[in-house]
Amino acid sequence: MRNGGSYSVAENDSLIIMIHLERAGIDYAYSVAKHNGMSLEQAEATLEDLMRKGLVERAGSSSIKRSDARFKRSDEVHKHHTYFSLTRAGKLALREVKLSARKHAARLSGTKLGSLMKKGAETLMKEASSDELKWLEEHGMIQEVSGRLIVTAYGRLVLEQVALLGERTLFLVKFLGTASGAPVSGFFPSSMIIIKNGEKVLVDVGEGIQHQLFRSGIGLRGLHTIVITHMHGDHVMGLPGLLMSLSLLNADMSISIHGPRDVKGFVEFVLDATRSGQDALGWTSFREIGQPFSVGEMIIRPFRVKHRIPSFGLVFQENQRPGRFLVEEALKLGVPRGPLWGKLQRGQAISLEGHVITPQQVLGPARKGAKLTFTGDAAPSEELVANARESDCLIHDAAFPPGDEEEAHRFGHSTWKDAINSAKEAGVKKLVLYNFGGKTVSQLDELLAFAESQFPGVVLAKDMMELEVSVDDGFDRACKGLC
Ligand SMILES: [Zn+2]
Repeated sequence: MRNGGSYSVAENDSLIIMIHLERAGIDYAYSVAKHNGMSLEQAEATLEDLMRKGLVERAGSSSIKRSDARFKRSDEVHKHHTYFSLTRAGKLALREVKLSARKHAARLSGTKLGSLMKKGAETLMKEASSDELKWLEEHGMIQEVSGRLIVTAYGRLVLEQVALLGERTLFLVKFLGTASGAPVSGFFPSSMIIIKNGEKVLVDVGEGIQHQLFRSGIGLRGLHTIVITHMHGDHVMGLPGLLMSLSLLNADMSISIHGPRDVKGFVEFVLDATRSGQDALGWTSFREIGQPFSVGEMIIRPFRVKHRIPSFGLVFQENQRPGRFLVEEALKLGVPRGPLWGKLQRGQAISLEGHVITPQQVLGPARKGAKLTFTGDAAPSEELVANARESDCLIHDAAFPPGDEEEAHRFGHSTWKDAINSAKEAGVKKLVLYNFGGKTVSQLDELLAFAESQFPGVVLAKDMMELEVSVDDGFDRACKGLC
């Protein structure tokens, strides 16, 4: 059944053992097998394979007496009581797997598929569509073993992360294209998708968007909100084709498009003239961009930017989050560690031996949510800086190389230097450069050295790159406390 994806049955065992060793610190094959429902041979073979790959190492032998009744021969005693632990490479590899699990978790969290998966393989078999099952399988979360479907070790890791996400603040950004203007070989027109708790917002729809959505594993289903920042062709040319394909899916669709007023006429004209996907006009609503709106737990606030035609940047802001859980207060009030803590953390009052305990009694002050600012095509401006102020992450137009300010501003774009100046002025925590023009794509490496010297930790967006934006620790340290 498997074709592609990153985990085979053998690799599933490897992951189980690596997670076990991480939690146990060190352990020996017999114990590893016992705790994970494997045969001793299976555990030994996997440990040896992991050692060959440099992910696991021997960590000494135990002092258990050779007279241990379970093993008659001394070499067996030695073998079964050799301790193993993860090497540094093993820990790093596991960290990578967890980061990838977090990304899948961000996508599944709050979705119907996520809750089906929580209920286990049997429910999935009954209630998930074949496309959904295929997606889970291709990403190593489920597997068919001897004719039965199982949730893999990786799938369980994703579910753990889904549970943790409820407590955390996170946007997941996937870049579908990073080039400005005409297509450049290897770069699609600038577009990205922002995901929070399973809700997706597609920002700008250039040519080739459908291929990029498929390549990214996001696909077309579950897409309900599209934002068009402005009417330049590289931001809208993919829209009629996308709506046409959605209409072919024959699914229960509803799409809301937030964009300039002309988007509606443009889409209607192309679909009518090509006699394609006209039914899309029945389930697509058009809203003129300008006022803030919300999608799930995201508040999206458009703001005007300087460009050749009317164009908008976007601030993505999370709702306020509940305050920190005050463990000592909870214990003082006699609330036992366990599910009741979770209820209080989620803002629900509980009843304990006839007393009502409210979340306010055990939570600190409400915390602010993450802020992500996206400039769209934009020349530098005071308004841009004001809107980007204190963002956890700023994704900034960087169409022209430093030194080309005059030309950049004439075309309504920014240079790398402009982007860095805006980021510094706005006091943002993280800067991501994107929307590269023809002059910059050929010298990205050289320009990166310049950008890093000016703004340490700056990131260059790449097609298919994913990043996490969180309020506490920035996206590239989002694994903190979990890995
Ligand atoms: Zn433009």
